[in-house]
Amino acid sequence: MKPQNIKAVFFDMDGVLYDSMPNHEYTWIHSLKKYGIDFPAEEAYMNEGRTGFSTIRIAFEQYLNRPATKAEEEAVYALKTKLMSERPKAPILPCMQELLAELKQAGVNVFVVTGSRQPALVEKLMEHFNIDADHLVSGADVKQGKPHPEPYLIAWERCGFKKEECLVVENAPMGVESAKAAGIYTLAVNTGKLADQVLLDAGADELFASTTSLYQSFN
Ligand code: MG
Repeated sequence: MKPQNIKAVFFDMDGVLYDSMPNHEYTWIHSLKKYGIDFPAEEAYMNEGRTGFSTIRIAFEQYLNRPATKAEEEAVYALKTKLMSERPKAPILPCMQELLAELKQAGVNVFVVTGSRQPALVEKLMEHFNIDADHLVSGADVKQGKPHPEPYLIAWERCGFKKEECLVVENAPMGVESAKAAGIYTLAVNTGKLADQVLLDAGADELFASTTSLYQSFN
């Protein structure tokens, strides 16, 4: 059942706060291509939420039928990071600054839960969403990334409320799986290229077609 008295909302970052998935799609395709892997665009969306190294390991197994060496993992990751730094800045998705500000104003605890480890993450989230380091769970905080429940369990433990008082907002199937495995009601917003059914099959409790309709559902 949908939580009635929400005290904390945990937001994923890529594809929820920022329209950054097109950049991830581009940089996954081009960093893996150098190693002979023809990574389909859809796979960038299906694997979203995993740590970068985990995606690299899966891509090698799936498309080259062998494990990546440690050196290859590092090289692909470094190339992807370099390509990301050259991409245009991802725009903030519509209504999300307003939603986070209004939730905070109403006394709701707002956390960002992302697999990202990008440099300047804390500064960026502070500048755009007024999120401080205490309210951020990043790839650097977890042993197991999404779809494992650990990232959302860390946010839940930090917030100190009951699970029935928390909500997750996710855009990726693995993020939804992670949140549901953590036992938290999950709103999915489909800002990417996957069919709605993929998010519903992952366990989303509610589905929104855009961040604008998600925002409207809070009012
Ligand atoms: Mg995401």
